[in-house]
Amino acid sequence: MLNCKELSEQASDYIDKNLSFLERVQFRLHIMMCKHCHRFVEQLTVTVNATKTLKPKPMSEQDIETQANKMRVERNSKIP
Ligand SMILES: [Zn+2]
Repeated sequence: MLNCKELSEQASDYIDKNLSFLERVQFRLHIMMCKHCHRFVEQLTVTVNATKTLKPKPMSEQDIETQANKMRVERNSKIP
């Protein structure tokens, strides 16, 4: 059976469905019996799914110019 450390190492692959059938069975067996890992996988799943729904906002020409100006000011302030 997996230990908690092994489970945490495989958690991303489990969520992304990259585990073999046997690995998935072992993984599920562990989270059925270990409430800490069960909670960990639940929270990781929520986080991963939330991250997947985030899309970068396209930048307008003005946003790009504003950002470029900020970077120029920052760069100039670092030059002695
Ligand atoms: Zn565990």
